[in-house]
Amino acid sequence: MPPPPAAPLTVGVLREQSREERRVALTPDGAARLVATGVRVVVEQGAGQAAWFSDEEYAAAGAQVAPCAALLDASDVVVCLHPPAVLHALRPRHVLVGLLQPLLDPRLMQRLADAGVTALSFDTLPRTVSRAQSMDALTSQASVAGYKAALVAADTYGGFFPMLTTAAGTTRPARVLVLGAGVAGLQAIATCRRLGAVVTAFDVRDSAQSDIRSLGGTVLDVGVTVVSEGGYARQLTEQEQAELTAAVADSVSGFDVVITTAQVPGRPPPLLVPAEALARMAPGSVVVDGTAGDLGGNVEGSKAGTTYVTDGGVTLVGAGALAAQVPRAASTAYARNVVALVGYLAPDGALAVDLDDEVQAGLVITHAGRVVHPAVAALLEDSA
Ligand code: NAD
Repeated sequence: MPPPPAAPLTVGVLREQSREERRVALTPDGAARLVATGVRVVVEQGAGQAAWFSDEEYAAAGAQVAPCAALLDASDVVVCLHPPAVLHALRPRHVLVGLLQPLLDPRLMQRLADAGVTALSFDTLPRTVSRAQSMDALTSQASVAGYKAALVAADTYGGFFPMLTTAAGTTRPARVLVLGAGVAGLQAIATCRRLGAVVTAFDVRDSAQSDIRSLGGTVLDVGVTVVSEGGYARQLTEQEQAELTAAVADSVSGFDVVITTAQVPGRPPPLLVPAEALARMAPGSVVVDGTAGDLGGNVEGSKAGTTYVTDGGVTLVGAGALAAQVPRAASTAYARNVVALVGYLAPDGALAVDLDDEVQAGLVITHAGRVVHPAVAALLEDSA
């Protein structure tokens, strides 16, 4: 007698719990792509609602729609954006995939390891490996965030971004400064340029200068750049950071709008715009801090999700989760990363965790009861 057919790999899509999070990890289109490869998809009821993807659309794409408990019962792979509220319900057979921020919360990774869960995080994907690029959720989401940062800045600013010529005269274009020219910053530069602003930008990585110029931006020369390490900026020494902050502070008063996107992986965002620099900006200027969060931000006093006007009349927008504010585009891009990752992990429909594979060695944080990602394990050891 032939062996019974193996059960199809089942991917469960969780509904995000935070009120600000409007993205969903898999769209109906992404579900249809997985279903077409023989994967079963179960979507938590209402998971796509905040991004205007209805349960009916998922069902039409061939997915099942179910409550959370039934989804967890049925799933092998559980996909999400943020670490889910249902961590306690995950079992050793589950593979959890998301933007889990393992370097910022290594203890949570230890909990997942203790529960026997295999956790994969897009945050630690080796991004420069070409076969990993279709799974690069940091890039897909940062790109959406940079676009939205530019729109928030343009919407908040009380003037035009483009030069406009009317019968009553000509307005000069807005002068925008973008700090941090990685994925988000470059998209912010490109979007501000499309809106007609004159854009200057700065990044501490020397290699970012040609990217800034290629988008029509001018490089702000503050006399501090470093050779990048593995594509990322290294953390600056205290003295370098102090010189940089002072030089940027001297420059910001010449701009109508400042957008900040500077990050160092696994570290608090560097302070680039101190309060005294804000105080020097003209009334009516706008600062959008795209890095504002629990660990601080690039701008002194910025707070995620909070906008206020300083005594000097500068509007400071602590931007919070920008990609979540463009939920359809961001979810669509993230879903493509998820589909690519499932295809990579289970090319024949069966999951195969292989820590000797360079891409998986970056992605897999916990497996077989251990924290296997070296950087996360090192953080846990340091804090023991
Ligand atoms: P990121 O979000 O970690 O940081 C954003 C930017 O802030 C970076 O460009 C960084 O250099 C900059 N920064 C850090 N400290 C700074 C400071 N003190 N002052 C000013 N700027 C500062 O970075 P990211 O957007 O994720 O991209 C990092 C790099 O990875 C870039 O070179 C990007 O092009 C590269 N990348 C490569 C690939 C690929 O090869 N497939 C994919 C994605 C990103």
